Amino acid sequence: MAKIILLVLGLLLIYWVLKGYRRRVERDEPRPQPGAGEDMVRCARCGVHLPRGESVAVGDDFYCSPEHQREHQSAR
Ligand SMILES: [Zn+2]
Repeated sequence: MAKIILLVLGLLLIYWVLKGYRRRVERDEPRPQPGAGEDMVRCARCGVHLPRGESVAVGDDFYCSPEHQREHQSAR
């Protein structure tokens, strides 16, 4: 009889560990395609679209490179 109780307790323990492990894995899983929701901005000089994080921002304007930022501002 004690063996059966131990067996049941062991199964319950395994079940709990697996459940807790799966929940932890789901929580730690990185979001699919990180950065996919990042804003896209348009280069004010050449019009190319690029992620905001990779752009050169000057005030309300964005540029694909420091060169275009300089060209655009000197053309004003
Ligand atoms: Zn550009």
